[in-house]
Amino acid sequence: MQNRNTKTKDEVLRIISSSSYALSHTDIENTAQIDFDRVTLYRILSAYEQQGIVHKVVGNDGKARYAACKENCQEHLHHKDNHLHFGCNDCGKMYCFEDRVIDLKMPKGFKAQQFNYTVYGTCPECNA
Ligand SMILES: [Zn+2]
Ligand SMILES: [Zn+2]
Repeated sequence: MQNRNTKTKDEVLRIISSSSYALSHTDIENTAQIDFDRVTLYRILSAYEQQGIVHKVVGNDGKARYAACKENCQEHLHHKDNHLHFGCNDCGKMYCFEDRVIDLKMPKGFKAQQFNYTVYGTCPECNA
């Protein structure tokens, strides 16, 4: 049992970190080479999210997708999601640009905790 869980966790992380764009539950299920149910997948993703290993990207279709976190995502145990996301209007893929960091100065007295920067347009695949 323990073995199987570990295998599933590893497989989910492998899929997310080897993808060039953020993946939905369905994307992960379709790519996985082993079988697991959706409840297990939800549990794994929420654990990874809490540990700062993956982060959620929600597009304007309301669907959650997951992208791997880079080392600098985590700061004082808070996820520092201050980078740009990109949503393709044609294929619907969401991309995560970890190296496009936005540093926004808040007005005095305001403390920013969650960021959500998503630019919509067309991706290289759809532009080709
Ligand atoms: Zn596209
Ligand atoms: Zn991201």
